[in-house]
Amino acid sequence: MENSSIDPVVYAGILKATRRRRKYFFSTVLIYIPALLLVHKISPTNLAMGTLFAVWVVFLIIFTVLVALCKCPRCGNYFHMHGITLLILRKCLHCQLHIASNTISTN
Ligand SMILES: [Zn+2]
Repeated sequence: MENSSIDPVVYAGILKATRRRRKYFFSTVLIYIPALLLVHKISPTNLAMGTLFAVWVVFLIIFTVLVALCKCPRCGNYFHMHGITLLILRKCLHCQLHIASNTISTN
C-alpha cells in the first residue's frame, strides 16, 4: 500500500509523533535503574521497590504498545512491527524509511 499522495505536513507530523513515542519508550527503559536507586535511598522496603516496579511495568507496557502501533507514513504498515515481531529500529521494517527522514521519497 503506497501513500505517496499524503500531505508533506501530515507526513512529517506522523514521523515526529513516531520519534516522540520512541523517546518515551527508551526513556522509560533507561529510567528504571536510577529510579530504583532513588527509591532504595528514600525507602529501602520491599513494598516501595515492588510499587516502583509495578508502576514502571505499567508505563513500559503503555509505551511499548504506543511504539508498536506507530504507522509508517510512506507504506502505511506498522513502522516497528513485522508480523508479531516488534523491532524498534530506526528504519521502517517494510519500506526502509528512516526515522529521521522528513521528506517524501521513494527510497
Ligand atoms: Zn514503511
